[in-house]
Amino acid sequence: MTTKILHNARLIDGTGADAVPDAVLVIDDGKITYAGPSAGAPQIDESTNPVRVDVGGNTVTPGFFDCHVHLSLPGTKGSPIMAAMVPESYRFFELIGRLKTTVAAGVTTVRDLMGVDVGVRDAVKHGLVEGPRLLVADKMFSQTGGHADFHIPSGLDGTGLIGGVIVDSVDEARKEARALLREGVDVLKIASSGGVTSPSDDPDWLGARTEIVAALVEEAHNYGGRKVAAHAIGLAGIQAAIQGGVQSVEHGYALTDELRTEMVERGQFLVPTLIETLKPDTATPQAVAKSSKWHALAHESIQASVEAGIKVAVGTDAGLVPDHGDTLGELGCLVKFGGMTPMQAIVAGTKTSAELCDVAETLGTLEAGKLADVVVVKGDPTTDIDSLADKDNILLVLKEGKAASNRGAYTI
Ligand SMILES: [Zn+2]
Repeated sequence: MTTKILHNARLIDGTGADAVPDAVLVIDDGKITYAGPSAGAPQIDESTNPVRVDVGGNTVTPGFFDCHVHLSLPGTKGSPIMAAMVPESYRFFELIGRLKTTVAAGVTTVRDLMGVDVGVRDAVKHGLVEGPRLLVADKMFSQTGGHADFHIPSGLDGTGLIGGVIVDSVDEARKEARALLREGVDVLKIASSGGVTSPSDDPDWLGARTEIVAALVEEAHNYGGRKVAAHAIGLAGIQAAIQGGVQSVEHGYALTDELRTEMVERGQFLVPTLIETLKPDTATPQAVAKSSKWHALAHESIQASVEAGIKVAVGTDAGLVPDHGDTLGELGCLVKFGGMTPMQAIVAGTKTSAELCDVAETLGTLEAGKLADVVVVKGDPTTDIDSLADKDNILLVLKEGKAASNRGAYTI
């Protein structure tokens, strides 16, 4: 048995409880056996040669989540069209650096909502490549002409390349859903509204009607209790998502108070993706124009959603706009625009996100019995939430007790 002890730590356990100033974390074989004040720490059997790490008064938090990423996309370092210019095999190698950057930024679990399949998830799980634990949707559904339809005006069809799947009837939706569920995806993704980057629609438009959303929700539920995430920016798409019974509304910028109440009643999550704003040099002029309008609305509307009591999880669309590894900047946005306290933003990025990902039994908080996904952050993020966004402050990242990144050069 390997025992690791992090001491001289400020503990933020992710439950929302106040930070514990002089805390100890004990990890046995990748699981937490104690997280709390040093005064109450258990006696350690020295004959087991425990590894003791003095974290120098810095803060220990749970591994963070990003519930909305696209590892297949290059972020601001390139344009999605580059995917069309290389063989498919090349794109797998591009994932290696993105996975590493993400976990080194303190994100130990991601939900990829279009673009990578279960093979990538399992390659990380089996240790073939280093990265955050993945949950994958693989494909994104919409109707013809919707957000998943990447027929571009030149006549080229990029739908399959980006991971889109087109369904125009309930029967088509059920069949495609079953094929994905058979493959073993963790979640289904539907674009019930139009999108910012898609070539032929608008976020105000409907991307899939309620009965199609509801059919996916039913199929996913029947297949081992899986869930559906809906890309929904404008009102019509948000309404179809909520009333179709999805588990999470992604973006949700045009939410109304009435629909906020309905989300709370249904226990649905919101993943507000506040950090994304398209830059003119990586997107078409049409997409940039859509982006500035809709992302301004995102910043205006989030506070009412937080105040309504909707469960808010952290997701960024990393790969599309923010770069891989920029996830924790979203927490600063939740404070700045959403009116959350820094502690509430940390809970959104840990415990609440773990609930959305259906892994709260083993992840999301630092409590005895849970997997040791742990981040050591320089300083105190409850007094400076933006400090999390600076990767130099992410001193150590443990995934199931093993160092995935060690900028602080600790002996562990
Ligand atoms: Zn997305």
